Amino acid sequence: MNKLYITVAVMLACLSAPLALQAAGPCMPTKKCEPPPCEFFEQIKMKQAVKRLFSKPKVRQQLIRQAGGDNAEAARLLNEFVEKKAAKLGKKLRCPWKNPLPPPGFETNPSCEIIAKLSTGDETMNRESALSKLDTCSEFIEAAYDHEQVHKDICFKTNSVERANEGITVYAAEERAGYTQELKSLRASLEQFWYSCSAESSAETARQIAAAGISVLKSKTPKSRAKNAPPVKGN
Ligand SMILES: [Zn+2]
Repeated sequence: MNKLYITVAVMLACLSAPLALQAAGPCMPTKKCEPPPCEFFEQIKMKQAVKRLFSKPKVRQQLIRQAGGDNAEAARLLNEFVEKKAAKLGKKLRCPWKNPLPPPGFETNPSCEIIAKLSTGDETMNRESALSKLDTCSEFIEAAYDHEQVHKDICFKTNSVERANEGITVYAAEERAGYTQELKSLRASLEQFWYSCSAESSAETARQIAAAGISVLKSKTPKSRAKNAPPVKGN
């Protein structure tokens, strides 16, 4: 039985991602410095939470025991454990997730293709077709494909028997690497926003940006100040 190399979609419970009538577009404000949508911050929070699930040595030890020492089976159990926990997280969402809609889950199959898990079924999709077919934040899709690329690269390098028998520690490390890339991509979009909009943003937005793991002080570089802030007199 195979485990899945999956980007867990946290919003599973009541929201499913439909194939869209319109393509994905950026959710980060591109013209005016309006605050980023609530969902953007929530997506980062959820991805962090799921990454943390793959980072618990105690859980791994317990699952190895539960699998009777069968390391590949333990990896499959970890996959199951994370999906269950993620579904629970999906019931505690605070943002409306109507606009933007949630992105689907993605997985990389044994042929190293990326599959979108849609309400209408699984569909093989590359990054470009996902961007043109899925009505959600384009940043979410870009980030998810950065995540899946980690699985894809390993999939191409490893033979399928090796991969199917991979133990829990290797599996957990691979997933953590995927979530690291995904978070990096999401945070880069927020950081970019902050570079251009810090001067016009509210304290609440600054707080949210900081909570998402971006240094709000670091962005006050001479470069961004010169571009966005009025010239400082004196000093
Ligand atoms: Zn993954």
